[in-house]
Amino acid sequence: MLAYDSHYYGGAWQASRGAGVIDVLSSATEAVVGRVPRGTPDDVDQAVRAARAAFETWSQVPPEQRANWLDKLAAALKPRVPQIAELISHEVGTALSYSTKVQVEFPVTMIGMNARFIRSAALEEELGTSLVVKEPVGVVGCITPWNYPLHQVVCKIAPALAAGCTVVLKPAELAPLSAGMLAEAAHEIGLPAGVLNIVFGEGKVVGEAIVAHRGVDMVSFTGSLAAGRRVAAVAGDGIKRVCLELGGKSAFVVLDDAPFEKAIPAGVNNCMQNSGQTCSAWTRMLVPRARHDEAVELAKTQLAKLTLGDPFDGATRLGPLASAAQRDRVLGYIDRGKSEGAALAAGGGRPSNLPNGYYVEPTIFANVEPGMTIAQEEIFGPVLSVLPYDGEDDAVRIANDSIYGLAGGVWSATKERALDVARRLRTGQVDINGARFNALAPFGGYKQSGVGREIGPHALDEFFQLKAIQQ
Ligand code: ADP
Repeated sequence: MLAYDSHYYGGAWQASRGAGVIDVLSSATEAVVGRVPRGTPDDVDQAVRAARAAFETWSQVPPEQRANWLDKLAAALKPRVPQIAELISHEVGTALSYSTKVQVEFPVTMIGMNARFIRSAALEEELGTSLVVKEPVGVVGCITPWNYPLHQVVCKIAPALAAGCTVVLKPAELAPLSAGMLAEAAHEIGLPAGVLNIVFGEGKVVGEAIVAHRGVDMVSFTGSLAAGRRVAAVAGDGIKRVCLELGGKSAFVVLDDAPFEKAIPAGVNNCMQNSGQTCSAWTRMLVPRARHDEAVELAKTQLAKLTLGDPFDGATRLGPLASAAQRDRVLGYIDRGKSEGAALAAGGGRPSNLPNGYYVEPTIFANVEPGMTIAQEEIFGPVLSVLPYDGEDDAVRIANDSIYGLAGGVWSATKERALDVARRLRTGQVDINGARFNALAPFGGYKQSGVGREIGPHALDEFFQLKAIQQ
């Protein structure tokens, strides 16, 4: 049990201005494992004032010194890795070994990477008679979801702080505990007061107060399309810069010459990572019609290897979903798939051997048509749709038939052919022939998947303004 009774701003833990609390539940046992205060707009106002005051000095700290602070922050988080991983496994349901690596070690590494990026960033450029300088945007409001709680926070705060911005962060109410531990680490190293401020609470109250606050210059938001639309509208009223990382319905295009025995399992694994609670997951698998049934059999074989169970059991690959609401939402989509005529090939309900916790069986639908709800809407759970296509152009058309454009995959026997199809996909990322995630690569959406990019050196630019000085 980890309970915070305060917010963290102005370099100190500060009593909440409201009396409410938010209980954090274990997704595996449904027991209370943590608690944070339910913040108010008043708390936000105090935190933004602290961030504004700190911006005056932090923006003038030389980049090399800001980089050193990030290195110190990463070092202070390292001994906390096991505890944070355990907390996130409770909050989100992620299997502990994956949680340790992906939910915690990777973001800690990413803090250090941002230190390197700002050390080597070119912040001035001469263009004709102008000196063009990159300056920090100002106070950044960061609002994050629960699926990769520390990662999503680090994707925002590390480049923001590196660029010279100060931050007011509102972590997801379902998974706020790692943000509390981040504040502890920042406090321990003596990060200057007001540089990193955290207010716990609900999106509609605390989140919206951050977005609307006149002292906030920019909003960096990751979450659902519906909430992102609201954030963009409120931020638009104040003509604020926004960076939005929203949903996805990514397609994995398996070309007819691909080695199916390798490609299909890779596609299943990608779709199911973090029990499908991943915005970039390849939730649509596009296969040549003539090889559809073969692909579905291979997908079922792979799925059977992904053991569903307690996130703290070493044999578990897939844990529960993060909340009862999420479980019910996913089950609702599964019902929708059945009623719209998709063929249920595996899973499709709650596992009878796991009565407690928010478990949903990993599920495959076959013969899914592009217009079906399960092929269009983001489900955010362990549900794979297999869609048959007729020829390469049809595959590209189906892949791009989405309001989203976040990620995707292509697999072919030849790299050139895969690359050719990858160039035709309207998405921010594409992995070809099983290529791995690259922590230097910009990550973000085309279309309604969002605005702006996170991760890697390009992320820094989101947090800069350009000033031209004619000389
Ligand atoms: P998820 O269910 O993936 O967490 P949401 O989009 O509901 O997706 O939430 C993502 C984050 O956005 C959370 O921190 C949530 O509290 C916050 N949020 C939700 N609605 C709003 C809003 N209207 N304004 C600002 N933040 C919001």
